[in-house]
Amino acid sequence: TRYVYRFGGGVDDGGKGDRNLLGGKGANLDGMAAIGLPVPPGFTITTEMCTRYYVDGGKYPESLNAEVASGIAHIEGITGKTFGNPADPLLVSVRSGARASMPGMMDTVLNLGLNDETVVGLAATSGDERFAWDSYRRFIQMYSDVVLELDHGAFEEALEIAKEDNGYSLDTEMTADDWKALVAEYKALVEKLWNKPFPQDVHDQLWGAISAVFGSWQSERAKVYRRLNNIPGEWGTAVNVQAMVFGNMGETSATGVAFTRDPATGENAYYGEYLINAQGEDVVAGIRTPQYLTKAARERAGAKPLSMEEAMPETYAELAGVFQILETHYRDMQDIEFTVQQGKLWMLQTRSGKRTAKAALKIAVDMAHEGLITEEEAVARVDPAALDQLLHPTLDPKAPRDVLTKGLPASPGAASGAIVFDADTAERRNELGDSVILVRVETSPEDIHGMHAAKGILTARGGMTSHAAVVARGMGRPCVSGAGGLSIDNAAKVLRVGGREFREGDIITIDGATGEVMAGEVPTVQPELAGDFGTLMIWADKVRRLKVRANAETPLDCQTARDFGAEGVGLCRTEHMFFDAARITAVREMILADSEKGRRLALDKLLPEQRDDFAQIFMVMAGLPVTIRLLDPPLHEFLPHGEAEFEEVAKAASVSVDMLKRRASELHEFNPMLGHRGCRLGVTYPEIYEMQARAIFEAALIVKQRSGDAPIPEVMIPLVATKKELELMKAIVDRVAAEVFAEQGASVDYLVGTMIELPRAALKAGEIAEVGEFFSFGTNDLTQTTIGISRDDAGRFLTQYVDKGIFARDPFVSIDVEGVGELIELAAERGRATRPGIKLGICGEHGGDPASIAFCEKTGLDYVSASPYRVPIARLAAAQAAL
Ligand code: ADP
Ligand code: MG
Ligand code: MG
Repeated sequence: TRYVYRFGGGVDDGGKGDRNLLGGKGANLDGMAAIGLPVPPGFTITTEMCTRYYVDGGKYPESLNAEVASGIAHIEGITGKTFGNPADPLLVSVRSGARASMPGMMDTVLNLGLNDETVVGLAATSGDERFAWDSYRRFIQMYSDVVLELDHGAFEEALEIAKEDNGYSLDTEMTADDWKALVAEYKALVEKLWNKPFPQDVHDQLWGAISAVFGSWQSERAKVYRRLNNIPGEWGTAVNVQAMVFGNMGETSATGVAFTRDPATGENAYYGEYLINAQGEDVVAGIRTPQYLTKAARERAGAKPLSMEEAMPETYAELAGVFQILETHYRDMQDIEFTVQQGKLWMLQTRSGKRTAKAALKIAVDMAHEGLITEEEAVARVDPAALDQLLHPTLDPKAPRDVLTKGLPASPGAASGAIVFDADTAERRNELGDSVILVRVETSPEDIHGMHAAKGILTARGGMTSHAAVVARGMGRPCVSGAGGLSIDNAAKVLRVGGREFREGDIITIDGATGEVMAGEVPTVQPELAGDFGTLMIWADKVRRLKVRANAETPLDCQTARDFGAEGVGLCRTEHMFFDAARITAVREMILADSEKGRRLALDKLLPEQRDDFAQIFMVMAGLPVTIRLLDPPLHEFLPHGEAEFEEVAKAASVSVDMLKRRASELHEFNPMLGHRGCRLGVTYPEIYEMQARAIFEAALIVKQRSGDAPIPEVMIPLVATKKELELMKAIVDRVAAEVFAEQGASVDYLVGTMIELPRAALKAGEIAEVGEFFSFGTNDLTQTTIGISRDDAGRFLTQYVDKGIFARDPFVSIDVEGVGELIELAAERGRATRPGIKLGICGEHGGDPASIAFCEKTGLDYVSASPYRVPIARLAAAQAAL
């Protein structure tokens, strides 16, 4: 097997640039070189090598040595420099690059190949002694941190002291001799901390860095990130070794990062930051404040330092040309890293840029309009889960705001929560159910778990491309970065701003769209759903096969669902209606009655209320199917609590409190979820389902008369295990329907069907379909009963189950396709065999989960039903599943 692929200088081993093999960075370096863009030559060691390295217990195959040597020779041939040559040394960078860009992987090592001898050669060939020694000290500092994993604080401290001793405030004031002296100190530091001298052999340096990249694949940081993002551990990372180019060779040199469109808003305008006379990550490290790329952005921000467009117009024009080429080539918005060495532009990276949901939507729709991609590709490009960000509220513009300070609008959305100062506390308090805002000077990859746990992120330092900003946008967390007005005292856990003090636990609000930071909680408003969102939904609906309904049980929820494009109600639970304060007493009377007569008296009081509930829902959903589930939960959920409530019910029912209490204790169940609930209630107390059926049909006729557009009730019997149960319940519903239609001299179409939420029902679906006119898979209960795990108690161990790979994902979030999924497939098949064309749907949380929706598409269900806010997500996911 070949493990090394070369690029640059007309050599292109990677061919089409397979990112699985070369990693994202390697594939695109290869790709850029292949289309003739200026890329420093280099080579990539494949992800397969990483996998093999772990399989072989951290060893390399014999052949790798020669392959790496030929890679170095390739770079030497093109640059005319020689690795380790004291007269004219070749320097390289060593970079990691997985298939998916992944924070947590080894940081890049720059200037590798410098030692006590080659630094002299670099000074001679560049004619710039200061530059050479600055590069050497950077190299020792980076290598010690990243490869040797020594305490980087010690090196930063030594630099600070050196500046202080010389009376400097900026790194740029350091002279060649100052750097020389610092290099000597750094080398002493390495010997002290590492017990060995800094490696002078350039090949040792190279292999040390290569092994560090492969080693970082199994670092804790990388593992956490993979877990949060569902990236498999087998993928491995590639290593990229590339000739150095220098952005730190004076005023005509620079380094920068850019996006071909605005990653926050999606606006079709170049966007980026750069720094003159700087190297590598200086731009994102927040050491110096970066300058704007374009004149327009600089003017808009009212900033003084010249933009690149103004300071280096020719190189900027060349760069802008490259942006165009890259967007056309990769057909997506690109995130680009570049360096200018003495006026010459070099491309160091390109990848599809991370973006906010808002930007993803705008860019996809714009690119389709521009003809760069098709409408279907636009549909495929937007992550349904990310739409969530757009569907959620933003700050109410009319609400008063106690603005403390303003930072950069790094990731949109608004969030309120309790201040926490470290990632672990964020995680802990989130688990306790608190909303928290993670407040840091700046974030680093060690903070990822805390950023995930937080509702929002606020940093005092860092630009729009800082770690906090990039990661927050990817996660969909609101973020305000670089809020320079904050002073954070981590030790005392105090945040000071504008003469005020805030402590851990105090509530603040951040607005990631404006950068504002506010004291207290600020109310929010609903999002705007027209424009690009509407356009994308139209395109999605064109390719979608699955219908999308909503789980809704109030007129308001139904209206939200309809506004979001729901094509019916897939689950209207009726029990919540029973909890209403005005009627709970009658409900309790019914439950606690010890005779049918007593129950009927109470049910008579409930009938008009329930009829009104359904009439309101049918009005909103006129013309659309509405699946109504008859009473499902164990009755004890409705029992009175405390003396006062018992007395109230006793009075209404004219019975004694003692008698009620006796009845209540009779209703006690050891395992209510498997107890007297669902259709078992209908079997023992048919009058309850009778009342509900009457309410449904009377309401349907009222609405038919009022609006002329008849609703289509689908009466759903819960927790059916046998055909006989459904037969008995259907007989009740049909009888009541016939009675109501006869009384009113009018009728509506309706169906009677069942939930499939018990394994027995799935197995006997063929038989049950003889009676049931539709099935709705109740995947919450079906998951509980199939796996035998209670959803309410699973929280304590499910994370471990996922961590240990027992389940790929939480089966209550995403359908367990292999187990529960097999039951669904089998029930669908058996149901259809009995009743061809039987209507099949899914309700339950899974109806809004894109992976579960893909499964429903594959199984050929007719519809999914999701909570109102997830309806657009489901529409988009259903469209993607159909593509
Ligand atoms: P990351 O994956 O964290 O972005 P990179 O491997 O892209 O890390 O390296 C970070 C930065 O280091 C680059 O953006 C670039 O500025 C600098 N860099 C990497 N390789 C080179 C090189 N060959 N010459 C000059 N600068 C480089
Ligand atoms: Mg990095
Ligand atoms: Mg990079």
